Amino acid sequence: MFRNIVREITAGVREHNMKRLKKAVAIIRDESLTCAKCEALSVPIKGTHNKYRCLECNRQFANTKHDVGSMLSRNDCAEFYDKAVSHLKGEASVEADSNKDDDVISSIARF
Ligand SMILES: [Zn+2]
Repeated sequence: MFRNIVREITAGVREHNMKRLKKAVAIIRDESLTCAKCEALSVPIKGTHNKYRCLECNRQFANTKHDVGSMLSRNDCAEFYDKAVSHLKGEASVEADSNKDDDVISSIARF
């Protein structure tokens, strides 16, 4: 009985946290820019107002003002910043890999 309650609470918390993580990912993605050097996603750096870091080449740069810090805290998902960034990093490397495929395909097509 008690175990079932704990299990239900744990499942509920997990689901709630997943929602917060997804929200954090959406916010960060919305506030992100494209790296001028490698065109990968560059996420706003939490704790700054206009600094971004490229997920692919790690280049850090200043650009337009972002509001990621207050947007995350307003949506109660500030603690998910790091997780959300590594999630986006995973997506970025998947995209980079598929871009490499495109490069291969286009270089083949040129022949
Ligand atoms: Zn870059």
